[in-house]
Amino acid sequence: MDSIPAVESLVRELSRLPGVGRRSASRLAHHLLRCPEDQARALADSIQEARDRVHPCLRCGNYAEADLCPICGDPRRDLGIVLVVEKPSDIAAFESTQRYKGGYHVLGALLSPLDGIGPDRLNLPALRERLQSGEVREVVLATPASTEGDATALYLQRMIPHGVALTRLARGLPVGGELEYSDSLTVQRAFEGRIPA
Ligand SMILES: [Zn+2]
Repeated sequence: MDSIPAVESLVRELSRLPGVGRRSASRLAHHLLRCPEDQARALADSIQEARDRVHPCLRCGNYAEADLCPICGDPRRDLGIVLVVEKPSDIAAFESTQRYKGGYHVLGALLSPLDGIGPDRLNLPALRERLQSGEVREVVLATPASTEGDATALYLQRMIPHGVALTRLARGLPVGGELEYSDSLTVQRAFEGRIPA
């Protein structure tokens, strides 16, 4: 069945998803071809709709459907504290603690000179603007404990103006560990035990 071009193409696209190998891709493709047609169409439509409607928040780079994401648009959040993360999915780890009530800034990537990823590839202009506005009093670096994470943290340290406190998460998180896969208690402790950077 996989030698039929349309099926082969579906398997190939599915196998490009993170964590999906060729065998899982083939199983998913078979499922999509056998499940009720409206179910398969709903999946295709929701992918299309998310791609059409979701864009980076103008302030923080998180996913947003309006100009601002739900966090930046929430007057109960204290945007004077900004937790800097690599990607939108890292935010879920902090939100799951239900204790953090500050704001975020999504860099979109980490510095990696070896891979040709320089500062121009990071969402830094918006961060610079926030820092210059004077409304930020603390920046918490939540970049991962990796070579790229440390290089990024070092770069950010030089960007922080006088008068803004700079902290980083306590190293309760496993080295190279992914924030988005850490349990909420670990994430909460890493935040509460944050140290001057
Ligand atoms: Zn936002």
